[in-house]
Amino acid sequence: MSHLQDRYNKLITPETKKRASLWGGTEKQEEKVHLVSSVANIVLEQAVIERASDIHFEPAKEGLRIRYRIDGILHIVLNIEEPVASLIIRRLKIMAGMQLDAVATQISQDGRFKQRMGASEYDFRLSSFPTVLGEKVVIRILNSNFSDYDLGKLGIDDKSLVRIRRMLQLKNGLLLVCGPTGSGKTTTLYSLLKEINTTSINVVTLEDPVEYQIDGMNQCDIKAKSKFLFADGLKAVLRQDPDIILVGEIRDGETAEIASRAAITGHLVFSSIHANSTIGTIVRLVNMGLEPYLVSYALVGVVAQRLVRRICPQCRTSYQLTPDQADMWHRYFEGWQSPLAKENANIHYVGAVEGEKTSTVTLFKGEGCEYCQMTGYVGRIGLYEILTFTEELRQAVLQGKATTELKQICIRSGMVPLAIDAMKKAQEGWTTLEEIVPILIEPN
Ligand SMILES: [Zn+2]
Repeated sequence: MSHLQDRYNKLITPETKKRASLWGGTEKQEEKVHLVSSVANIVLEQAVIERASDIHFEPAKEGLRIRYRIDGILHIVLNIEEPVASLIIRRLKIMAGMQLDAVATQISQDGRFKQRMGASEYDFRLSSFPTVLGEKVVIRILNSNFSDYDLGKLGIDDKSLVRIRRMLQLKNGLLLVCGPTGSGKTTTLYSLLKEINTTSINVVTLEDPVEYQIDGMNQCDIKAKSKFLFADGLKAVLRQDPDIILVGEIRDGETAEIASRAAITGHLVFSSIHANSTIGTIVRLVNMGLEPYLVSYALVGVVAQRLVRRICPQCRTSYQLTPDQADMWHRYFEGWQSPLAKENANIHYVGAVEGEKTSTVTLFKGEGCEYCQMTGYVGRIGLYEILTFTEELRQAVLQGKATTELKQICIRSGMVPLAIDAMKKAQEGWTTLEEIVPILIEPN
């Protein structure tokens, strides 16, 4: 039974049911309100305790199913029966300032509220969606505690950290973070900004939406101002005497062009882009219509990243791969032709005799314990591929060299490919083979 189910059962007992007006009991209206808000509170509070990023309230055949997304995975935590089910949805919508009438349940709405829990304040963002079984509500939980953003704690290895910090010393240039949705791009961008946000510089951001409000920065919410898009917003920002500009995302050629021009005219510009790898980002910018000369002169660095679940430290145990798994591991490892890429990462193939099939690869997993609620994982860790522009790379981009060649140039200047970082973090016991397989099988 989940902790939430346990708390719910203590709140909604046969005794409460007998008394409360909800079930035709004799207690007054206040008890009903109190009971419903107590249920809403424990659902929110337990989500924060368990580090959930989202809460799903899903209409089922009878009542409501509640799931938490923890470290990227959904878990069922509670089933709520009627009449509490519909009252909870109503209660949450009131808290978020959303419409309650019958018409409003047929459309999709947004709303939000803030609530202090323990030492931090949390921002709860609701969205409703009409399903055939009734209204579904999803809450995104954002922690407004900026002290959580620490570049040194993201999982970037020391050597790469030095390379990133060197880029942050630059007065101008474009620094992009890429990866799929939910790969922690925003966290990286905020952590980068936190390193350089001082009173002597003017930081202006354009975000969609502003996820965290940070002291001393001028943040603009693109979503709140309709028709004020990234490209237009960026033109306005440039008239605001900025030193550093954060553009939430580069989605189109126009934004890419303005951001690049800003970067070559004395501004440090941070942004994210939808691409799978560092080299993929260069290709994507060119495909958006950016001239290769602009890409090669504006871009100073690219961080490609993924998030994987971190093995629970309380129940972590080592195990030997089966011969088949070890063979697969070996093939992936040897698939990386460049010994230099492995040298960059300081990774060594454990247990293997050169070129031979081996059955002695040792990796790690969580066995499952009370601390990790039997999942074997607690929290997540980032996997990174960090590209820094060199003169050699600049020339190669200008000459339109093939991506494989660009990649070799990057590796020569110290880049650790994402798949190598993934294998290294599995070997070191941060994460499991299962978590990194999707990264290993990606086309490079
Ligand atoms: Zn555990």
